[in-house]
Amino acid sequence: MSRSVIDLRSDTVTRPTGILRNAMAMAEVGDDVYGEDPTVNRLQDFASELTGKEAALFVPSGTMGNLIALLAHCARGDEYICGQDAHLYKFEGGGAAALGGIVPQPLDFAADGTLDLDEVRSAIKPPDHHFARTRLLCLENTQAGKVLPLAYQEKAASFAAENGLALHLDGARLCNAAVALGVDLEQICRHYDTISLCLSKGLGAPLGSLLIGSEGFINEAHRWRKVCGGGMRQAGIVAEAGYVALRYQVERLAMDHGTARSLAEGLSEIEGLSIDLEKVQTNMVFIDCAPDLQKILKEWLDRRGILVGGYGELRLVTHLDILPSDIPKVIRACREFFSQS
Ligand SMILES: *Cc1c(COP(=O)(O)O)cnc(C)c1O
Repeated sequence: MSRSVIDLRSDTVTRPTGILRNAMAMAEVGDDVYGEDPTVNRLQDFASELTGKEAALFVPSGTMGNLIALLAHCARGDEYICGQDAHLYKFEGGGAAALGGIVPQPLDFAADGTLDLDEVRSAIKPPDHHFARTRLLCLENTQAGKVLPLAYQEKAASFAAENGLALHLDGARLCNAAVALGVDLEQICRHYDTISLCLSKGLGAPLGSLLIGSEGFINEAHRWRKVCGGGMRQAGIVAEAGYVALRYQVERLAMDHGTARSLAEGLSEIEGLSIDLEKVQTNMVFIDCAPDLQKILKEWLDRRGILVGGYGELRLVTHLDILPSDIPKVIRACREFFSQS
């Protein structure tokens, strides 16, 4: 696909820059199943230092990171509470049920991406043989581009502790949340027992995620990674890209947030097109219009070399490969569409 295409489907479509490719070519490697890949170890150490946790584990994908977290927290017949639209429930093939016999208890996300803690409380099962054992609460940050408030995350942490639940964060875009709030990763991660984080989204690495938590938890997760077939050998080749991305490409996310903001503001001025600007907090813009209109708008943009994605709503995601100069082109194409329809 040539650069003349403006691909806003997801921040996963970025291709590694020359800097990343060069770093990968030079990476020192070893057998990571033996724990002997120095580059993987350096990435894991760096991630645990950044997040203020004891340990981290490099895994092939965000999906496997979440799956392993669920397997390590919950036994068969145990339950986790999460959002109805949570990635780890809705978009990961039901892996926790299929492979772990783990029961989901999904609840609707509030408009701001949080879960109402009173609703969570009512969903916790009493200790009775009739019920699954509720073990874990899962949050997502960012949630569809929205940043969870720090105060909420602090409340969720005390809530989980009071109710004997572990607290997991699907932080696929944790770095976007931290940059948007202007805080260190540690200030978010301190509220969670475990965190998964994607290196291959806005950070721009070709693949890989990290699962982060206590030493005991990561030890257990390490076993589950092997069980899931996620033990990799000379993984330093890709871990190096993750390291460079996490070390040098976090602050850059602010630019993606800026381009998303100007895209949203430009689009919001178009008659017939509705954007909730309050929801544009990081690198995602959602266009709300009738489903049949969505379909033809998507095709219209497609023919003009502009790709958009989404389920139910059209989603436009900014990233490393989107230039500020792309934004006026997207706005112009949308304006043309709505002025002729
Ligand atoms: C992308 C994503 C994941 C993991 O996805 P992979 O494609 O498996 O790396 C998990 N949670 C959220 C919220 C995501 O957006």
